[in-house]
Amino acid sequence: MVIDIIGAGIGGLTTAIALSKKGIHTRVFEQAEEIKPIGAGIILANNAMQVYQKLGLKEEIEKYGNPISSLKITKPNLRPLSKIDLTYFERKYQTKNIAIHRGILQQLLLNRLGKTELYVNHQLSSITEDKEATFLHFSNGKQIHSSVTLGADGINSKVREFIYPNIPIRKANQLCLRGVIDFELPVQFRHELNEAWGTSERFGFVQIEKNKVYWYALKSFEKSPNEFSFSQLEDSFSNYHPLILEIIKSSNKEQINTAEIADLTPTDKWFKNNICLIGDAIHATTPNIGQGACQAIEDAYVIAECLNKYNINTAFSTYKNQRIEKAHKVVKTSWAIGKMAHPKKPLLANLRNQLLKITPSSLSKKQNERIFQLTST
Ligand SMILES: Cc1cc2nc3c(=O)[nH]c(=O)nc-3n(C[C@H](O)[C@H](O)[C@H](O)COP(=O)(O)OP(=O)(O)OC[C@H]3O[C@@H](n4cnc5c(N)ncnc54)[C@H](O)[C@@H]3O)c2cc1C
Repeated sequence: MVIDIIGAGIGGLTTAIALSKKGIHTRVFEQAEEIKPIGAGIILANNAMQVYQKLGLKEEIEKYGNPISSLKITKPNLRPLSKIDLTYFERKYQTKNIAIHRGILQQLLLNRLGKTELYVNHQLSSITEDKEATFLHFSNGKQIHSSVTLGADGINSKVREFIYPNIPIRKANQLCLRGVIDFELPVQFRHELNEAWGTSERFGFVQIEKNKVYWYALKSFEKSPNEFSFSQLEDSFSNYHPLILEIIKSSNKEQINTAEIADLTPTDKWFKNNICLIGDAIHATTPNIGQGACQAIEDAYVIAECLNKYNINTAFSTYKNQRIEKAHKVVKTSWAIGKMAHPKKPLLANLRNQLLKITPSSLSKKQNERIFQLTST
């Protein structure tokens, strides 16, 4: 059996690695001419790291990234509103949350592809079917016969458009700017993620390796994402802690990555016949709880287990049944947190801050318990 994967993002590459560990041959087709690193960081939460532990990648990721032992939401002046201590989960699962440069993670995954065939410059343009076979057509003129196709082609998935064209993308009306700078955080911040919340904007930063800090800034917009850009960063965060302003000042416009925040309306249509969707292609989420890639990584592990054990139809339905509840919970929780983070009115922001302060840490621990517990296979 050969499995064809559309998209060489974190989801597609991790799936190829998980399948090749099972001795299943895969071909990965990526639209980009080369796999270029995005100039941003990523946090691989405990659940994703548990998967990489099973795939034999944990030590390498730990070596190139930075362990994060607490997550803090703060006021603009960096006074804490809430703190999640991750050391309990580190002990429980023998692995940590790791902040790492996306480019490095991508390279580590590429190094582990084994016998997987990777084709760049292969943008899927359409899929056709006859009674016997499915054909994948690429913009470069190539056409291949595919017996099993996995769509790992992100939120704007062409594969999803082919099997279920009417699943709406929801825009959050928030824009995110992110970048990586040469910077060393003061020692007390080195192993934590800090996110400072204001009224219509927030700013997060984390050390991803020695002398490299990943930062991100989100801001709500009314009508158009053009309302927020790099040149407005300093003004938008002028009343924030001097450390945040220092990070902004150290950033370079040319290296900024801009993303409009959106997710996919939760749906139970995950597969049709011999075509199945994974990662953002089927449960894209807003980034507010840092779980999008982590959920794609969990998908990768589960679908590889299922394809190894069952026939295609049972594999796809078992994969969906095992993953759907948690993936949708993440989408819904993240959407709600995104709204809470940007209440837009100072009065509501004050109220929210009071609520965050009195929320017992046992509640956040319970929520994380559900997220960090791997989907059982
Ligand atoms: C601002 C921001 C911050 C985030 N931070 C985190 C975080 O800290 N932790 C976390 O877990 N998640 C985070 N995420 C979410 C995470 O980035 C995504 O969930 C994750 O990248 C999804 O991986 P994927 O492989 O499913 O899709 P993608 O990363 O979108 O990859 C899809 C791939 O398919 C290719 N492709 C698309 N169309 C075609 C086509 N027609 N033919 C061939 N190839 C195609 C694309 O070029 C791409 O390489 C964040 C997201 C944002 C926007």
